[in-house]
Amino acid sequence: MASAPPLPNEQGEIREHDLAQALRTAQPAQRGWGTEKREIQCQSCRAISVFADNQAADKCAFCGSPSIIPHAISQDAITPQSVLPFKVAQAQCRESLRRWYSSRWFAPSKLKRAALTDTLKGVYLPYWTFDARVDADWSADRGDHYYEGSGDKRVQKTRWRPVSGSLEHHFDDELIPGTVGVHAKLLSAIEPFPTRSDLQPYAAEFVRGWTVERYQVDLRRAATLNQQDMDAQVRSMCSARVGGDTQRNLQVDANYSQRTFKHVLVPSWLATYTYGSKVYQVIANGYTGKIAGERPYSWVKIFFYIILPSLIALGLWAGLQGQQ
Ligand SMILES: [Zn+2]
Repeated sequence: MASAPPLPNEQGEIREHDLAQALRTAQPAQRGWGTEKREIQCQSCRAISVFADNQAADKCAFCGSPSIIPHAISQDAITPQSVLPFKVAQAQCRESLRRWYSSRWFAPSKLKRAALTDTLKGVYLPYWTFDARVDADWSADRGDHYYEGSGDKRVQKTRWRPVSGSLEHHFDDELIPGTVGVHAKLLSAIEPFPTRSDLQPYAAEFVRGWTVERYQVDLRRAATLNQQDMDAQVRSMCSARVGGDTQRNLQVDANYSQRTFKHVLVPSWLATYTYGSKVYQVIANGYTGKIAGERPYSWVKIFFYIILPSLIALGLWAGLQGQQ
C-alpha cells in the first residue's frame, strides 16, 4: 500500500489536477504489463483483452463474437499492483457449473444438453481499490417518541433535540470494477473477492497463459465512483450515531486524507453462449467458486407449469363465484 501513488483530496472533492499529479507520479515501472503483450478489442461488446504474444484468440471471451480487432497498447495503462491468483481449478468449476445449470429449472431442456462449459475461459478482471482516512463532523436533530393521554386518547409525540459528534474511519480496499466485459449484475453477484487478505504483488508470471481484461473505467472515473460510495457510507455511519427513535436535518462535514489507489486483478471463469439471437454470460468467482449467470427462460415450461395452472385456478374460482 505504501508504494501506491497518493491521491490528494480536499473536502471530499476530487480535483482534476490532483489526479493528474497522482498519475504523473506513477513510476515507469507502474505502467505496462512487465512483459510483451497484445491487446484486442471486441467490436461487439467493446471489451479489451490482453494476451501474451504466443496466445491467440478467435473469439471475444466476454460475448463470443468473432469480430475482434487489434487494439493499440496505450502507454498510459497502469500496471496492476496486485493479483488475486486463481484458486478454483477449471475441472472443479465445470462440475459446479453443470450443477448450477441443472438447477435452473426454467431453462430450455435443449440447453442442458448443450456443451455449455466448452467455452469456459479463465479471465483476470480489472478492479481499482481505494484506501482513505476520513474525519467527519456531524450534527442532526434527534427525535425521541413519548406518549400523551391514555387509552384511546393516547397520542405519540416526538421530542426533538440537537445532537452532534465526530467520526474517524479508515476505508481499506474499497473496490470499484474497471471491467466493461462482464455484465454489472453478474459481477456484483459473485463478489466479494478477498482483496483485503489474499492479494499477491503483481508479477507477469501470474497472468501468463490467462486472458486479462484491460480496464476501461479509468482512474479518474473510478475515483469519482469511490468518492460517492464513501460519502454514502460516511453518511450512514453518522446517521447510525444520532440515536433516538427518528432523526432529521443530518449534516455531515467530511474530510478525506491519505487517499491511495491500487489497480488489482481478480480471477474469474467465464462462459458465454448464444441462444436465439441473444448472448448469455455465466461467471464463476475464480477464488471462491461463487457462480452467477444469465439464462433464457423456456416459455413452454413456464406456460405449462405456471400460467396454465393459474388460468385453471382462476377459471374454477370464477365458476364458484358464478354459482353463488
Ligand atoms: Zn465481446
